[in-house]
Amino acid sequence: MKVQFWGAAQTVTGSMHLVHHQGKQILLDCGLYQGKRKIAFEKNRQLPFAADKIDAVILSHAHIDHSGNLPSLIKSGFKGPIYATSATRDLAAVMLLDSAKIQKYDVKYVNKKRKKKGQTLFEPLYKQHHAVQTLKQFRTIEYDHLFDVLPGATARFHFAGHMLGAATVELNLDADEPGTDKPTRLVFSGDIGRDGMPILRDPQTVDDADYIIMEATYGNRNHPERSDAKQTLKEAAHKVYQDNGKLIIPAFSVGRTQEIVYRLNQLAEAGELPEIDVFIDSPLAVNATDIFREHVECFDDEMIDAILTEEDEDPLSFDRINYVRSIEGSKALNFRKKPCVIISASGMCEGGRILHHLKNNIENPTTTILFAGYQAPHTLGRILLDGSLEKVRIYGEEYTVRANICKLQGSSGHADQVNLLDWAAKTSERGDVKGIALVHCEIDSAQAFEQELKKRKLGPVLIPAPGDEMEMK
Ligand SMILES: [Zn+2]
Ligand SMILES: [Zn+2]
Repeated sequence: MKVQFWGAAQTVTGSMHLVHHQGKQILLDCGLYQGKRKIAFEKNRQLPFAADKIDAVILSHAHIDHSGNLPSLIKSGFKGPIYATSATRDLAAVMLLDSAKIQKYDVKYVNKKRKKKGQTLFEPLYKQHHAVQTLKQFRTIEYDHLFDVLPGATARFHFAGHMLGAATVELNLDADEPGTDKPTRLVFSGDIGRDGMPILRDPQTVDDADYIIMEATYGNRNHPERSDAKQTLKEAAHKVYQDNGKLIIPAFSVGRTQEIVYRLNQLAEAGELPEIDVFIDSPLAVNATDIFREHVECFDDEMIDAILTEEDEDPLSFDRINYVRSIEGSKALNFRKKPCVIISASGMCEGGRILHHLKNNIENPTTTILFAGYQAPHTLGRILLDGSLEKVRIYGEEYTVRANICKLQGSSGHADQVNLLDWAAKTSERGDVKGIALVHCEIDSAQAFEQELKKRKLGPVLIPAPGDEMEMK
């Protein structure tokens, strides 16, 4: 009995861990590796194991770095079930189709260059029909319900508080030798959220762990004291209202966008928002918001109270919110004379409709650009947020940055070092933990977190490289 780490090993993306048990194989997550284009291209095409030898998949949540390579697994011959919560399945439906579309455009870009050089052209990583087939293999299981994965292996989803549908996975594996031994419990954290996040319930922990695979994205740092995101939004909206400008918020379509809308709705209900129209300009965000509304089982008390007590009964909409699906609707925003708020994707300004809003408004000092999430190095989002360049390139043209740039603090969906330590301590508390593998983090973060775990006598700790194994008894 062992687990082998194939992705999110000494890096953040491409979550993929393979459990070997009694001649069977259970895959935990099958995420896309996201990073430098060339490396990602090759890595995602070569699964490090035989897909047709996998017996079942357990998916922690719908984020693409956890789910995005499932269609490749299916394309390579995986025929088994994919277990996930129903909210994860519903989000995966829109996100995997969107991902198939992105794969199509990505390969177009690569092939354009290859064609010029006379090289053979690539197929996309996967196509739409592979994403559709993936969805057919989903088996949804609600939180807190023990289910059979394979003979001798049961599992249960616990609330991870990281995004809608996100789960921590408890996997119980019968001992290799038949006898009286109790099953070995492997706890896979998935991505761990934080207490007090808007909309979602707080994360749960799991008891009696024997082995733990845990994320340590922020293993080496703590988030700044929770600042008031609502206050920042309110001030930014009033500023553009007075300036007769636009408030542009680049945000991830799934999760962050709904959180912002929820906060804006609270402000509107309290009469604290100026008379300003809000546009959600992302088809994926529109679809995802519909899915959010259906998953009450994931909501915290505040969200449920809002549904039950508000006049409009919808905390993800109010009379000034406009969801924009069509390209024409999106383009029409360029010609608006009145002040407005535009929430659009991609969150790091690497593509999507946000780029034309930036292009049209970035040179205008009445524009405010409010960043609402992590900006990876070298992305346009990061460059703008750092303020390191006076001019930026968008679609090959140069623009002078005259807009006011600011950041919505305290909007991370990940636990920080203090939260992670607390999670590890609680998960280790009642068990006899024989190994903690740190994944989903850069090496410096893992090493810093290992020191903290050691100080608290938690462990032994493993920082696996791709292909490394953790033996289990
Ligand atoms: Zn995630
Ligand atoms: Zn992740």
